[in-house]
Amino acid sequence: MSDWEKSSTARVTAPARPRKLAKVPFVELADGRLQGVVSSGSDIERVYVSSVAAGTYAYTCSTNNNRPCGGARGGFCNHIRALIVEAVLQYGAERVSRYVKAESASGEADAQSITAAMTSARPSPGDKQAAAPVFSRFLRHLAYLELAPTTAPLPEMQWFPPTRAVA
Ligand SMILES: [Zn+2]
Repeated sequence: MSDWEKSSTARVTAPARPRKLAKVPFVELADGRLQGVVSSGSDIERVYVSSVAAGTYAYTCSTNNNRPCGGARGGFCNHIRALIVEAVLQYGAERVSRYVKAESASGEADAQSITAAMTSARPSPGDKQAAAPVFSRFLRHLAYLELAPTTAPLPEMQWFPPTRAVA
């Protein structure tokens, strides 16, 4: 482990497999949902905020301007499918399937079996209010990328408990 991993109070979870961030810059298992931000295939100014609820698989997909995704009218759109693929790369299939409660019949989980398990349940569209907090969290993550690298403390991070010095 590197020094920063040893001194971190939060456990650092390395991605299960390395993944490219261009298509799905943000994915998380949070608020009882698999959710994240998916780039538009055609317009680099546009992103979609997509989510699938654990258990019910209620899905939402809308642009960052809150326009509903045309592909998500009757079921999972390509953004949601891409989100599932990237979540499996990030967290591993087992963790994703456990979190969203989508066990595959064969027991062998991958992005395809998780997607199939969810779509076969014929889920309904979910609560669109979910998108705003996801997108604002994504923007917060982006904001840290704009900070110049420094070892000085970030005032915003001060609510983290102080760590003991690494011997
Ligand atoms: Zn979509």
